Amino acid sequence: MPENQNDTIETAAAVIDAEAAAAAEAPAASPEAESEDNSVKFADLGIDGRVLAALQDVGYEKPSPIQAATIPLLLEGRDVVGLAQTGTGKTAAFAVPALSRLAELHDLNGPSRKTQALVLAPTRELALQVAEAFTSYAKHIDDFTVLPVYGGSAYGPQLAGLRRGAQVVVGTPGRVIDHISKGSLDLSELQYLVLDEADEMLRMGFAEDVEQIFQQTPSDRQVALFSATMPSQIRRMSKQYLNDPAEISVKTKTSTGTNIRQRYLQVMGPHKLDAMTRILEVEEFDGVIAFVRTKMATEDLADKLKSRGFQLPPSTVTSRSSSASALLTR
Ligand code: AMP
Repeated sequence: MPENQNDTIETAAAVIDAEAAAAAEAPAASPEAESEDNSVKFADLGIDGRVLAALQDVGYEKPSPIQAATIPLLLEGRDVVGLAQTGTGKTAAFAVPALSRLAELHDLNGPSRKTQALVLAPTRELALQVAEAFTSYAKHIDDFTVLPVYGGSAYGPQLAGLRRGAQVVVGTPGRVIDHISKGSLDLSELQYLVLDEADEMLRMGFAEDVEQIFQQTPSDRQVALFSATMPSQIRRMSKQYLNDPAEISVKTKTSTGTNIRQRYLQVMGPHKLDAMTRILEVEEFDGVIAFVRTKMATEDLADKLKSRGFQLPPSTVTSRSSSASALLTR
């Protein structure tokens, strides 16, 4: 099996070989947006005091590179394209300046229950996670509501939430379109539009929905577009809908423990399960964590492995964000 420090794993599940082997030689990739000055503090970035207090509550000591680079630009009102993956702190990079500006608007114009920020996310899991992050950073702003709206769940509570009013709505594109068409989501006072994991949204077939949403927002809204990769379709979208965006790029700071050896096996999609089964049969292991893309894929993989004789305690099939994992024991 080829060895590579931080390579793409092409199998359906990353079969982690946690054999003790001092193999890590390559240094971790350094983020391009890493600030020269490591002493940059949140307090230096111009963030509203209420949001700053919430950051202290959650225990963040200093901004990550993507945060140090994007927060001042977004606070200035610039559109931003951020090339960053999960784990870089990208959520706070767009949530903190959005909330900071909304808190100041709140002071200036008085409280409003209208939707002022809309975040689009590819999956229900990510929408919930982003909404949770917004809620924690907004906890010192009075009379403030963050509402997640996503497909596959009942309309009733979402409609009631939208009727009561939410300054921040975080949703999957299809459900957001549904609410716009029903008239339950009013974007006429939208200040801030965020696309989170834009490449993933397009990959999941949401391109048309996303474009339709862009067209339904006021032309002077600010846009933050975050994506792990920059396919031509996103470049085109950014040219068409963003206003002279600043582009920030952060490479994931992947650091592999020195006692972990990473190997990967490249197989065609339909052969993934057989390849994984074969590896599990021939390799010695105490436990295996398999990562797949969605919660449904976790359950599917778990069922197939169970039917091939592998034990999976049910409570270990979990999902968080856009990745999910299943723990396998012998
Ligand atoms: P994200 O890339 O937004 O999914 O964030 C990855 C994780 O980093 C989340 O658990 C955040 O709560 C955490 N995080 C974000 N910013 C910071 C920071 N400045 N300091 C410490 N942890 C952070």
